[in-house]
Amino acid sequence: MTRALILGGTSDANLLAAKIARAGVDAIYSYGGRTRAPTGQPLPTRSGGFGGVSGLADYIRQEGITHVIDATHPFAAEMSRNAVAACADTQTPLVALERAPWVRVPGDRWIEVPDLAAAVVALPETPSRVFLAIGRQHIAPFGEKPQHAYTLRFVDPPEGALPFKADVIVSRGPFTFEGEVDTLRSRGIAWIVARNSGGDGARAKIDASRALGLPVIMIARPQLPERLRVESVAEVLAWLGHRTCLGA
Ligand code: NAP
Repeated sequence: MTRALILGGTSDANLLAAKIARAGVDAIYSYGGRTRAPTGQPLPTRSGGFGGVSGLADYIRQEGITHVIDATHPFAAEMSRNAVAACADTQTPLVALERAPWVRVPGDRWIEVPDLAAAVVALPETPSRVFLAIGRQHIAPFGEKPQHAYTLRFVDPPEGALPFKADVIVSRGPFTFEGEVDTLRSRGIAWIVARNSGGDGARAKIDASRALGLPVIMIARPQLPERLRVESVAEVLAWLGHRTCLGA
């Protein structure tokens, strides 16, 4: 009997959950617990960390999990590394549902950097309006360049003080090209800092930056251990042994 664990928190994971529920596969959806009101799921859900590799391995054993699907965000590297290790420990098959990264196209003014620290260095010294499209837990290093006027965008209003003064937009997205052009224009943004998440949901800001001729400091994805990787929900269903015609 199949009993799948979906490590989620992304729109791809949500799509997968809908298809898995429709296929009648027994599965549990796991949230990291960062968002206050996460999207409802058509599957049983759990929320919050497992307690590292050993905690996840214990969970897999206790819940009788037969397959793990890592559908976390490409930058949720700790969770993904833990999944590789816990699945190796428990000999549980693992697949990663991971969208392809964005590729630079003509007109893009990308400055590609390996990590957050390099993104801070890549920002100019002269005061500028900067859109940090990177998630609240990653903004602190930009306090090293306090001369800039930062715009941030979060799913939930920030709890407590931010590490520096900033213009905060609270919105869950997805965002449209027109909306992103308007956001960048109306705030007079001159630089964008983004992570190479890939996928359609987050790419409107990249397309809008290109259209406006704005430079994007693009942070590369973290390195992850070797694992089976697919890009579509249909491939995950096939991997689970459900080769049904589900329109995935
Ligand atoms: P992370 O740094 O890789 O994970 C840190 C710890 O949070 C993990 O070691 C694990 O704790 C717990 N965790 C993360 N994802 C979990 C999940 N789906 N279920 C249960 N525990 C989870 O992850 P993150 O970057 O903070 O992302 C957290 C969640 O937000 C993920 O579900 C991710 O898909 C989603 N998300 C992240 C981003 C992003 O930009 N990083 C963007 C959109 C959505 P234990 O070690 O205690 O098990």
